[in-house]
Amino acid sequence: MTFKDFNFNEQLTEGIMSMGYNTPTAIQAQAIPVILQGKDIIACAQTGTGKTASYLLPVLNSISHSDKDQISALILGPTRELVQQIDQQVEGLAYFTDVSSLAVFGGGDGIAYEQQRKGILNKVDIVIATPGRLISFLSSGALKLDHLTHFVLDEADRMLDMGFFSDIMKIITYLPKERQTLMFSATMPPKIRTLARSILKDPEQINI
Ligand code: AMP
Repeated sequence: MTFKDFNFNEQLTEGIMSMGYNTPTAIQAQAIPVILQGKDIIACAQTGTGKTASYLLPVLNSISHSDKDQISALILGPTRELVQQIDQQVEGLAYFTDVSSLAVFGGGDGIAYEQQRKGILNKVDIVIATPGRLISFLSSGALKLDHLTHFVLDEADRMLDMGFFSDIMKIITYLPKERQTLMFSATMPPKIRTLARSILKDPEQINI
């Protein structure tokens, strides 16, 4: 299998090549076709397997060329470090597309908060966020997710371990009911299955 088999648009294909990706990893080969079909997924995948690109590529492919002024995709992750790493992959893969992203995370100083608040005022297609800071932007009305089409939870088990369950459920109340939801977790304890049952629709399970 090669990346050509997915028929991604030309600008995204250029981004994939510029990142030096030649062959899809196992999780990419399994998850990308299912995500491209519009299905929800729950994927058991560890860091280092290429899991980030397995959801970024199909999401980027489907939201590029949308000239919506609203946010199309939200990616939630447990920590500032993960959010920044995901944002860097978006910037590399989407470099030749017109898709723009914004990283939203807590901690740091007031300057980071101000920069993120200003970033929201620009056209943003993808928001990558930690739950707590995202909620403060949602509840103040600074950020709206009414037109979102794709919702990703990355490292879902770690988010639950860090006590973000109720934040995640609160964030979901701001999202349209009609959306594609993709959940990634390194482990599948019962609480992850419970979360999956409440937020995914007829998901396909992917294990690598
Ligand atoms: P992840 O598991 O998403 O944290 O990815 C681990 C590393 O693999 C990251 O540095 C990615 O940029 C890289 N990567 C992802 N997909 C591929 C691929 N198909 N070929 C080569 N490297 C990749």
